[in-house]
Parts: sequence; C-alpha cells; structure tokens
Amino acid sequence: MAKFVVGITGGIGSGKTAVSDRFRELGVTVVDADVAARVVVEPGQPGLDDITARFGTDILNGDGTLDRAALRARVFENPAERHWLERTLHPRINRLIADDLAAAASAYAVLVNPLMRGRDPRADRILVVDVPEELQIARTVARDNVDEEQTRAIIASQLDRASRRHLADDLVSNDGSLADLHAAVDRLHRCYLRLAAKGTETA
Ligand code: ATP
Repeated sequence: MAKFVVGITGGIGSGKTAVSDRFRELGVTVVDADVAARVVVEPGQPGLDDITARFGTDILNGDGTLDRAALRARVFENPAERHWLERTLHPRINRLIADDLAAAASAYAVLVNPLMRGRDPRADRILVVDVPEELQIARTVARDNVDEEQTRAIIASQLDRASRRHLADDLVSNDGSLADLHAAVDRLHRCYLRLAAKGTETA
C-alpha cells in the first residue's frame, strides 16, 4: 500500500479527471474507482461470469462484453437484484483498488472516488474538486452532449456541494482556466510530497 493516499472527489463534470491527469503527469499513481468498477466486469473476469450465471447471456452484447443498459433494466426497481449485484461486485472492486494502491511505487497515490458520501477510510487526506454549479452544468453539457435538465437531475442525485466541501482537507476551485487548475495541482503536489515524507519518517 502506498504509505500516503489522497482521495479525490467532486460532482459530475467538476474536473476530477483534469485534476487526476495532472497528478499522473507529475508521476503520481492514480487509481480510479470508476475504472475498477468497469474492469471487474470485463470479459474473462469472475465478476462477469457471476452476472451471466444469474441473468443469463442475454445480458451480454454480441462481442461478449456486458450490456450495461440491459443490466440496468434488470436491476432497476428490483432492490433484491440490485443488492445481489452490489454484494457480488463491491468486494471485487475494493480488492482491485487495494491491490492497485499496494502496487503504487510513487511517493504517494491518488484514489479518485466520485461516489464518496463520507470520508473514504482508504484516504489519508481528501481533496475536493469544487466548481460553481452553472459552470459544472455548462462543462458537462458541452462534454457529454446531454441537456441541462438531465445534468441538473444527476447533480441533484449526488452529494450536495456544501456537504462535499465539508469532507475536504484541501479544496481546489476549478473556476478558472486549465492552466490555473494545473498550477493549483502542482502546489498541492508539493504539499503532499512533504506530508508523505513526514508520514514515512514517523512510520
Ligand atoms: P465526471 O465525474 O463526469 O467523469 P470529471 O469530474 O472527471 O467528470 P472532467 O471530465 O475532468 O470532470 O471535466 C469536465 C469537462 O470540463 C471536460 O470536458 C474538461 O475538459 C472540462 N474542464 C475541466 N476543467 C476545466 C477548466 N478549468 N477549463 C475549461 N474546461 C475544463
């Protein structure tokens, strides 16, 4: 396990990817909970075998990959199936994340967890990517080609901005240019290198 883990969270379109890409450029290992959730259901993974054993091969696309829309339809409004799916996949996702953090060779590692609703116990420090809602909506609409109403509905389903800010040890305001964002991440990186070194000294 990397000795020091920075957990990153933020709402849809807040700039988590832009921030974590910058950390990666600085040589930091980035582990992404969304990526882990996709990997455990790739063809050949036991997670996908479990899903086809329960729901049948109708749940697959022609190329053998998981048909996410079909799976969503099967568990939508069916709490028992949804809980089964969570019980089956969450331990696999958590194990993959733990393995990736353990393999991190950088001075510290970053764990991107968009769904954080409380402090992620795997993180020593929480960095919140914060953005004014109107900008968040404009960037999401431009990126995903979705309408504003849909974006507002997704934001309403996520942790509210004030509660998220409450989780933060550090906060990066993504209301300027990408160059501003990179400069802010570079400052945080210097701080995290110091904290990680201090943690290693006292360990
Ligand atoms: P999601 O949770 O939906 O995956 P995210 O938090 O990872 O989103 P990004 O994909 O990093 O968000 O950013 C959303 C969009 O806004 C992207 O198209 C990105 O290029 C753009 N963006 C992010 N930060 C800035 C910025 N400071 N200036 C201009 N565009 C930005």
